[in-house]
Amino acid sequence: MQNIEQLYINGQWINATGNESLSLINPATEQIFATVTTASDNDVESAILAARQAFPSWSSSSAAYRAELMNTIADEMQKDYQAFVDAHVEMIGCPISIAGAFHVDCPIEAMRYYAKLAANMEQTEQQGSALLTKEAVGVCAFINPWNYPLHQLIGKLAPALAAGCTIVAKPAEQTPTADLYIARILHRVGVPAGVFNLVFGRGSEIGPQLASNPDIDMISFTGSTRAGVEVAKNAAASVKRVCQELGGKSAYIITEDADLTASVRYGVEDVMGNTGQTCNALTRMLVPASKLQQIIEIATACMNEQVIGDPLLEATTMGPLVSALQQQKVLEYLAIGQAEGATLITQDLPSSCANGFYVAPAIFANVTPDMRIAREEIFGPVLCIISYDDIDQAIEMANDSEYGLSSAVYAKDKASATQIAKRIRAGQCYLQGSYFTIDAPFGGYKRSGNGREWGEQAMAEYIETKAIICD
Ligand code: NAD
Repeated sequence: MQNIEQLYINGQWINATGNESLSLINPATEQIFATVTTASDNDVESAILAARQAFPSWSSSSAAYRAELMNTIADEMQKDYQAFVDAHVEMIGCPISIAGAFHVDCPIEAMRYYAKLAANMEQTEQQGSALLTKEAVGVCAFINPWNYPLHQLIGKLAPALAAGCTIVAKPAEQTPTADLYIARILHRVGVPAGVFNLVFGRGSEIGPQLASNPDIDMISFTGSTRAGVEVAKNAAASVKRVCQELGGKSAYIITEDADLTASVRYGVEDVMGNTGQTCNALTRMLVPASKLQQIIEIATACMNEQVIGDPLLEATTMGPLVSALQQQKVLEYLAIGQAEGATLITQDLPSSCANGFYVAPAIFANVTPDMRIAREEIFGPVLCIISYDDIDQAIEMANDSEYGLSSAVYAKDKASATQIAKRIRAGQCYLQGSYFTIDAPFGGYKRSGNGREWGEQAMAEYIETKAIICD
């Protein structure tokens, strides 16, 4: 068993001095595979100080230098590809056959993508009498969840490095390993001391310290809306920039004239991916009432193609949920949905899943928009099918949510899907079965957050604009 007892601070591996040891549990076996010593307040202070001291030199380094380092980081990530895959299998139970595509490919691509964008930092623009220059926002704190550990770290780290920011990162309690591997890579390739610092511990303890510390200029938080609100409150007094990437309950409109088999398959696979633990999962499938029965049949057949079981087996397409807590939460929602009168369609769990935090993939039919299962984020492999009478009602239903992270439309063709997409209040809208891409800005409307990750827009989170005026 691995004991993770060191933090990465100021370019060195330092023994953590917190008073807790967190156990990391393999969700497929329920066995502890590592322990992690938490950071004390003093450790976190040291990390912030290191990032503050490294900032002047890193932020004034040339974009070409930072880009070269970032490309070398991407090369090293590629060399460690299998270690990242194995880490995701062990930490979150992702099936080995899909872990690379789901969790590792995009982060490597993103490191190279933002390396190219580093050069933008040196471009200036004349606006009237003002010369506009870009500067790094400063010391950034990253707090991330457990569902896409590497992806979420790199979604923040790559644009921040490109902009010239320095960093203190705190991964989720359950998933520190990918961050640890990244710290090792950054150390190996010679990223200057203090540019990236890594601390481990509970969000409820380290989170408020990072959010409130005046030496941190920006905090990028990804996680639940509940914790995101806490972060914003704790950050308010220091007037730092806060980027929040929060929860979702995304709607997917299938129109009457869409290709039903293709559209329904896309929706079911989207929700079942990563065992439903995806913030932008299209968990509300809005379908024409006239096609409801047909759609339920197609959806059930697609759901039954999922092979749930041991993530180490090549044939497995769906692993367990991340933790006993998450399993409990999803099981509660399955009970709530039935009590609300929705029809549950699900598989029997194979006997091999008796151990591990497994929940069988599920579809709720006959869901109405007022039900809790249609309004609250379940964060498991549970699809709600809701029927509508006409497209205006479908759009109204799509927008009738406190969230606005993502959405999708499958219509007869791209042109008609685009018309519907324009009327949906969400940060993204995927048309005709499209997939996530790192060059598209990603972020929420409403209580799904503010700010944007990915795409060129992500750089803006890490940049201050200076106006130099000479009239
Ligand atoms: P969570 O909010 O419980 O935890 C996320 C992170 O926040 C963890 O690192 C945790 O330690 C930390 N944290 C907890 N309390 C905190 C506090 N008071 N102050 C500061 N940090 C605190 O969320 P989770 O259960 O780990 O993740 C699932 C949630 O994340 C879902 O709601 C999901 O939709 C959301 N999510 C959003 C995105 C996005 O890009 N919008 C991406 C992935 C996940």
